[in-house]
This record gives sequence, structure tokens and C-alpha cells, in this order.
Amino acid sequence: MQHIVVAGAGLVGSLWATLLGSKGYKVTVVERRPDMRKANIPAGRSINLALSDRGWWALELCNLKEEVKSFAIPMFVRTMHDKQGNLTRQPYGRENEAIYSVSRGALNKLLLSKAETDPDIEFRFSERITQLDIENKILHLKNEETGNESALHYDVLFGCDGAYSAVRHRLQFTDRFTYSQTYIDHGYKELNMLPDAEGKHKMDVNTLHIWPRGEFMMIALPNPDGTFTCTLFLGWEGNPSFTNLNTESEVQSFFEEYFPDLIPLIPDYKEQFFQNPSSSLMMVKCKPWNHGKNIQLLGDAAHAIVPFYGQGMNAGFEDCSILYNMLEEHQWDFETVLPAFSKSHQADGEAIADLAMRNFVEMRDLTADPEFLFRKKVERLAHESFPEKWVPLYSMVTFSHTPYHVAKKEGEKQDEIMHDVLNKTFRIGNTDEQYALEILKNNLGN
Ligand SMILES: Cc1cc2nc3c(=O)[nH]c(=O)nc-3n(C[C@H](O)[C@H](O)[C@H](O)COP(=O)(O)OP(=O)(O)OC[C@H]3O[C@@H](n4cnc5c(N)ncnc54)[C@H](O)[C@@H]3O)c2cc1C
Repeated sequence: MQHIVVAGAGLVGSLWATLLGSKGYKVTVVERRPDMRKANIPAGRSINLALSDRGWWALELCNLKEEVKSFAIPMFVRTMHDKQGNLTRQPYGRENEAIYSVSRGALNKLLLSKAETDPDIEFRFSERITQLDIENKILHLKNEETGNESALHYDVLFGCDGAYSAVRHRLQFTDRFTYSQTYIDHGYKELNMLPDAEGKHKMDVNTLHIWPRGEFMMIALPNPDGTFTCTLFLGWEGNPSFTNLNTESEVQSFFEEYFPDLIPLIPDYKEQFFQNPSSSLMMVKCKPWNHGKNIQLLGDAAHAIVPFYGQGMNAGFEDCSILYNMLEEHQWDFETVLPAFSKSHQADGEAIADLAMRNFVEMRDLTADPEFLFRKKVERLAHESFPEKWVPLYSMVTFSHTPYHVAKKEGEKQDEIMHDVLNKTFRIGNTDEQYALEILKNNLGN
């Protein structure tokens, strides 16, 4: 049987190793960091993540859905905080539809432990890939603790080594490999909101909190230990920006002006602001995702995106489910399936990258806009009244397996239709949602 090597034991690599192991393959996973279950190291970027349907699909394939549910917090609505502390709530989908806040560390550790129960899966931690010899199918490794160098042969290699993938880096030197990397003008900083004196959450739990402030925003996701992880997304330059918030009094004025309701909830916000790192955000687009019949990029290595749709991990997990199903259909013939998977699925990577950027504008700016809120209400009514004709873009992305590129196209059509509906209603002062629904119905030919 072929020897398979998975580069990276992050979220996607450990999940994909489990699926390969379930088919009886001998799998070696190489990871540059130490085993996060033993070493006290952070599990990478962002403390928690929003998990939605595409992610659940892959977890179900690994029989992990119930276990993950036990530590996942459902968020049914988004709650917008304005500068005066007024709250507006908006359901994410239909009744009982939720996105789930999960700890990145807990999820990654669970995936590692699940994979490790399979004797055919071997993990090699603290092994950094330094070179890839495509011609001879050899990975060159360097142990981060001992400095020892070694070589590892593969028959099939999966590059699940994240946004700065070493596997992809080697592919960039192959003919006709197309690649782009874009840093956006905003970065992020995480702040921790501790529980109250009784150990309970200080804000509503089953919701994703947003403080939309036009050019920037704060969001907060709940954790099971009573804390919230708040993330400030802010420009690197301009006013205000990370660059010009240099003193405690500047940070204090910034919070007093834009996030006054957070000050009593995070009393040490100034200390945290200077202690916690500010991190950058980037996107990667590339193609093809495969190299011939035996190298395949998955997850962030193929399509790193900005986090504003909460889809990066979900998209990476969906790569695994789709590839798994295609391989099942073709008796695990990698030669046939890898090129076909890349060809059919690359457009989805591009689409979700674009949708995620678009959602940043929506979250930081439009969620505070009455026209946007009206549109969302009408769309929700339409989804309830004639679901076979109208599924809002957010629901298609988050609560369905509609390919991202199809969802994006459909979303563009919906924009045109809603433009007309809004011209005939909200924009001329008519805020009757039922009336707007009738116009929408007519536009759809109902
Ligand atoms: C602030 C923020 C918030 C986010 N929120 C969400 C969210 O709400 N929902 C969501 O779905 N996604 C979210 N994401 C995106 C999500 O974090 C990524 O899409 C996901 O981690 C990708 O998983 P991966 O396994 O492909 O890559 P990674 O998790 O980056 O794992 C790659 C692994 O490869 C290893 N590696 C790298 N180079 C080498 C090498 N040379 N040799 C050996 N090993 C190597 C790394 O150490 C790492 O363990 C967010 C991202 C950020 C930054």
C-alpha cells in the first residue's frame, strides 16, 4: 500500500490523516511544532473559531460530531453594540440554525488524539519541512529540538501546512503554478474578557457580539470557561490605527470614544492592549492545488482567507469531505482524483476569499446601517415563506454545502433583486417588510 505523508498537524492535517487512516493507509504526519497536547504552546492563530455546517460535515465523517458539540457554544444571533451601548439582535439563520464557538486548541488536540488511536498513523512532531524533492518524492526535515536532519519518502504528499506552506512554496517554482499573496490594511488583536464574580459570562452567551465602527470593529465569541475572546480588527495606518495607539491615554481615549460599554467588562483592557500582539491578516490564492498525481494542497495551504466569514477552517474541512467522497467514488485512485478535485474545487477557494473580504465591509460597517437591517429582515421572511426560491447568501455559505462559487454568483443576483426592492420601499420611506416581501415575490416570478 502507498505511504502517505501529511505535512502539518494543524486542524486540516490532523483531520485528513484520520480520514486516510480509516481507509487503511499508512500515514506519517510531520509537524514543525512540538505536540501541543504535551507542550504548553498556543495552538496557532485565534483562540476560538466559528464552526458551521461545512465543518460539521467533515467532523461527522470522522465520528467526532458529538464530542465536539460537547464543548461548542451555539451562537444563534449576532448582537450589534452601538456607541451608546444599545443592542440590536439579528438571527443568523432560521430557528435553531447557529454557528458554534469552539476552542481552536481543544479542537486541534481532539483531532490529534483521534488520529493517534489509529496504529497506522504516525506523528513526527518538531520536524520542520525544509525542502521538497519532487523528482525523487522526498521531504527533507530538520528537527527543531535536536537540529538533526532526515529524509522521508512519500508516494502521495498532502500539503496541509497552512498559510505559509513549505509544500506550496516548492510548487511556486514549478511551471505555470499561479500564486498571489495579499496582506490587507487591517490587523487584529485579541483581548480576554474574564467571567463575572460568579464565574459566569458577562454578556449574552449564545450570540456573536459585534461593535461595528465603520472602518474597524470589535467582535467577541464566548468560551465555555465563562470568558469571551474579543478581537479588535483595526487598520495598521491612519487614525485611529494600531500605529497611532501608542500610549495608555491614547488607548483609553480610543475605548472611551468607540467601545465605552467594554471598559467595565474588560477593566485591564489597557494592559492587555500593550501585552497582546497585533497580528496581520493575509490571503493566498493559487492554482493548481495539485502537482501531478501525488501532491495535493489542502486547507490554508491552498486558500488562506481573511476571517470575516468564519470560513477558513470550515473551507479546509470541506476540502477533506469533498476529496474523501471523490476518492470513495473512484476506488481511491489518487492519479485520477487529485487533478479532478483541484480543477472542480479551485473556484470555490477564490470565491470564499472574495466573499470573506466583502463580509468584512458588511460586519464593520453595514451591520449598523438601518437599510442593511431592513434588507436582512426581508430576506429572512423570504427564506421562511419560499425557501426553495430564496436562500440568503449568508445561509448558503454557512448553513449549506452549496459550492462557494455558486453561492457567490447567486448572491450577486440577489443583490440586483434587492436593489430594486429597496428602491421601491426603504429608500422612499416605506419600511413595511410585508410589502417589500410582495415586491420580492413578484420579482422572483411567484
Ligand atoms: C483571527 C482569525 C480568526 C479565525 N476565525 C475563524 C473562524 O471563526 N472560522 C473558521 O472556519 N476559520 C477561522 N480562521 C481561519 C482558520 O484559523 C484557518 O483556516 C485554519 O487554521 C486552517 O487550518 P490548516 O490546518 O489549513 O492550517 P493551520 O491551522 O495553520 O495548520 C498548519 C500546520 O502546519 C504546520 N507547519 C507549517 N509549516 C510547516 C513546515 N515547514 N513543516 C512542518 N509543519 C509545518 C504548522 O505548525 C501548523 O500546525 C481564523 C483565522 C484567524 C487568523
